[in-house]
Parts: sequence; structure tokens; C-alpha cells
Amino acid sequence: MAETLKKRSEVPENLKWDTSRIYKTKEDMKAGLDALKSLSAEIEKNYKGKLTDSKTINECLSKYNDFLIMVDHVSNYANLNLSVDYTDAENARTDAFVTGEYMKELARLSFIDSEIDQAPENVIKEAIDTATISKNYLEDVLRFKPHMLSAETEATLVSMQEVTSAPYQMYEQTKLADMKFPDFEVNGKKYPLGYSLFEDDYEYEEDTDVRRTAFKAFSEKLRDYMYTTAAQYGARVRSEKILSEIRHFDSVFDHLLFSQKVTREMYDRQIDLIMEKLAPHMRKYARLIKKAHGLDKMTYADLKLPLDPEYNPKVTIEKSKEYILDGLSIMGPEYQEMLKRAYDERWIDFAQNVGKSTGGFCASPYQKGSYILLSWNERMSDVFTLAHELGHAGHFYNCQQHQSYFDNECSQYVVEAPSTINELLMAEYLKDKNTEDKRFRRWVLASQISNTYYHNFVTHLLEAAYQREVYKRVDKGESVPAETLNEIFKGVLQIFWGDEVELTEGCELTWMRQPHYYMGLYSYSYSASLTIATQVMKRIRREGQSAVDDWKKTLEAGGSVTPVEFAKMAGVDVTTDAALLDTIDYIGSIIDEIETLS
Ligand SMILES: [Zn+2]
Repeated sequence: MAETLKKRSEVPENLKWDTSRIYKTKEDMKAGLDALKSLSAEIEKNYKGKLTDSKTINECLSKYNDFLIMVDHVSNYANLNLSVDYTDAENARTDAFVTGEYMKELARLSFIDSEIDQAPENVIKEAIDTATISKNYLEDVLRFKPHMLSAETEATLVSMQEVTSAPYQMYEQTKLADMKFPDFEVNGKKYPLGYSLFEDDYEYEEDTDVRRTAFKAFSEKLRDYMYTTAAQYGARVRSEKILSEIRHFDSVFDHLLFSQKVTREMYDRQIDLIMEKLAPHMRKYARLIKKAHGLDKMTYADLKLPLDPEYNPKVTIEKSKEYILDGLSIMGPEYQEMLKRAYDERWIDFAQNVGKSTGGFCASPYQKGSYILLSWNERMSDVFTLAHELGHAGHFYNCQQHQSYFDNECSQYVVEAPSTINELLMAEYLKDKNTEDKRFRRWVLASQISNTYYHNFVTHLLEAAYQREVYKRVDKGESVPAETLNEIFKGVLQIFWGDEVELTEGCELTWMRQPHYYMGLYSYSYSASLTIATQVMKRIRREGQSAVDDWKKTLEAGGSVTPVEFAKMAGVDVTTDAALLDTIDYIGSIIDEIETLS
């Protein structure tokens, strides 16, 4: 594959996204950077030392909102151009230069938060009452007040950030630069091994000997770095604990959930219920894979196998447009218009070229339309990935038309709901469309499990269950050496898979594979978002237009509401366990149907 990859310069325009929607040329971007610097200087000159009354505070925040939009545009422009070709030295230099420049300006304006925090509570409350765009921003400042430290300490913490974030950098370096995987051999044939090669290919490999040997070779290499990785991770969780103490949080959990606006109960519920209630369904799914592939036993190294690997319909980009427009037509004409624009105005980068970032993502610079990075392989699964990313695009498209920059970011708890609901709507559409073709229906159902639900409700959830145990120990002041981490991870797997899956040696090292652990309580939120998405999808199927209208209003609200309010606007109550229990039943019903069709 590697030798046939095109250079970026050889990729046809229609397969590339169009960053000229942000700035026409690089010169325009540089002019944008200059404008941003002038605005920053102006804000400092006019407002520093003067944020003592509500009128001035709101005026300043309005300018600050404009400034952040400019940062958003220059940073996205530089970063998006780099992400499609990391081998382009010129783009790398530009990105590093731009980042350095706007970081300086952000530091210059850090007085804003400190001064508002120092203002008397009644002044902040008055500012909230009279605010046009900064109400939520100010409420967040007020909410954080009990945890804010002196201006001097806050400044010290900011300047130390480079060092406190070092464990994550070290983790990535260990994983991506230091770890060199040797070839492995099966029946006299040699196979190359690498981190993404294992996770993207060998885990799905149908040849059982190759798959299991790859797992063994991969695990052996991981084990060489076990103590280093545990030390990095240990430093990260300790620093989070220390911060939670100096900021006067009751526990490290309270600290980490604070910015998500999620209660401990909501967090625990996701983990507790899925561990208990989803497990029996997933064990049944594991039995189905075992049977489909005629395996002697089901092992940890076999779990990613697709149910029907020979069946994977090919889809061209042109055809994908038809699927996407038809599949998501239930969302109404405005949403359709946005989807058409995504294709016509080149929001999507389909290309495969040397140096392009691997993961799919969607970036949405404020009011400029979205940028979706993909690697199109002409597989039906690519259509689902595209529908997912277009869900993020649709979310920010709607939200940015109605909210200030301050309110366009939303809690981790809900951020994957607009994306995953599109996967579900696509699946429903395909099922409706092909009522006769049983194999196709089974394939759609199996994809729903192996892609949508497995990823969000199993992979990340088991990580979340492990992570919770780690933090519980850290909260008690205990250390978490490598052996403890292994033991915790294996324990979680044992609880979930029971006797159904043989826990291959090396499974306990899975904790070494997830960068999310360096981003706080992230892993659990996938299932939380997908719970909302499942309920809204069911509501749309049941009630039609009124449910679609509510969902559209929810998307428009974006980050201006809390996760509980967000879900409520869409007609879902996440304050009790009903939505999650129903979602687990739904997953069970899909697996039951797959069994019937098998
Ligand atoms: Zn996503």
C-alpha cells in the first residue's frame, strides 16, 4: 500500500477539502494573525486593570469573543493544512509559528479571567443579568470561583503546564517513536508488525494463527515498555490528584467531572449498569463470532473479528452522496442543504496520500463550515464514518448560527450524540431499504454492533471501568505500579466477559494502549453520548417530525446548556437509569436478531 500512495500535490482537487473558505491565501491568514495581535493589544490597553464593573466586563468579553474567533480561524487554517501532509516542512513551520504567536496573545489576555474572578460577586451577577453573549461564560467563572487560586498561583500553574502535560508527550513518544516491533512468523512466513498495523489490520485478520500470533508478538513488545508507561501514567494521575486537592475538590472525580457538568451519579451509572447489564448480551455476541468462524475457543485476541467478513459492499464517493442524502433525509430540508454543501463546497478530504493524518475527524472553525478528514477506501463502513463526521458538522453548523463562540463548545458527555445518531439513522435507513435481502440486513445489524456499539459501549467502557478503579486508589493516596494496573485491567475483563472469553496472556496490558487516559474522564462519555443518540433515534422513528424539530433545537443550543438540559431538550431524561437500560435492551435486541438471521 505505502508505495502506491500519491504525494499530496498529485491528489485531484475534488478529493481535497478547501481551506480557502477560511482564508483565500496564506498571506490572508498572516494578515488575520496580525489583526488578532492588534485586537489583543487593544483589549489589553483598554481593559487591563479596569474590569471592576459589569458594563466594562461585558464589553471586554465581547471583544474577547471576537479575538477567540480569530484564534480559532488562524489555528484551524494552519493545523488543517498540516494534517493532510505532515511531510510538508513549510506547513509544519507555519503551524508552529502560528501556534507560538497566538499562545503569546492568549497569555497576554489571561488577566481577563483573573480580574473577573477578583470582582465582587454582585458585580459578576449584574454582568450575568445584563450579558448578551457572555452569560454562560460568566456563570462558569462564578461556578469555578471556590476553586480558583491566587492570581500568582494560577499564573505559576499556567507556566508549569508544559511540564505537567509531559506524561502525555512521553506516552506518545514511547508508543510512536521508541517502540519498534519485530516481524513475527507463522508457518514459515514472516509478517511485519507495527502499532497501527496491529490495531487496524491484524486484530481483524481472519487467519486465526496469524491473528493470535500477532497478538502475542504485539503484547510482548508492549511488556518491554510496561514500567516506563506505568510511570508516565502514574505521574499523570498523581498530578490530577494534587491539583484536585489544592483546588479544594472533595475528590479527584469531582475535579475531573466539574468542567463536564456531570454528577458523580451520572458517571457511575454508565459504568455500573453497562458492566452488569450489557455483559450477557456481549457474551452472546462473542458466541456468535466463535460459531461464524468455527473457532476452537473464543479468546481475547478474537473479539474484533467481523461476523461476515466476505460481505463488504463497495461504495464510490458519488454513491456515498446518495446514501448520505437519502439516509439522513429524515432530518429535513435544511439539514439536507448542509449535507449537499459539504459535498459541493469540498468540506471533506477523501484523499489517501503520503503524510496524511490517519484518524478521521471533523474540525469546525467558527461559522466557516466544517472540515472532515477521512481516508476513503470505498467500503460501506466508510459511509458510516462519513455520516458520523457529518453529524459533528451538522451540530456545529446549527450551533454556530445561534450561539456565540463562547457557547459553541459543549460538554464531553453529549459531544458524540449528534455524530452517533447519524450512524444509527443510516443503519435504520439501510434496514428499511433492503427488507428482502437477509444477508444485507444481518450485515447492517452486525456493523451496528461491531462499529457503533462495540466501540462506544464496550471498548471505551471497559477502559472507563478500569480508570475508575485507578482513580479510586489514587484518591486514597495509594500508588499504582504496573502490576496493579495489570491486575485492575484483567479484573475488569473477567467481570465483563466471564467464562465466555479466554483472557489471553497480554490482555492485561490493554491499559497501555489508550491515550484517553491522559485526558481525564473521557472514556465513559462515549456511551453517555450514544445513550442519548439511541433514545433520540428511537424517538424520531416513533414520532417523526416533532422529534426531529426538538433535536434540531437541541443542536442549535450547543454548549449554552448543560448535558442534562441538552438531553431534556431532545426528549431524553438522563437523570434516571431508564434511558440507559432501554438502550442496553436495544443492543440486546440487535444481537438477538443477528442470531435469528444466522
Ligand atoms: Zn466523533
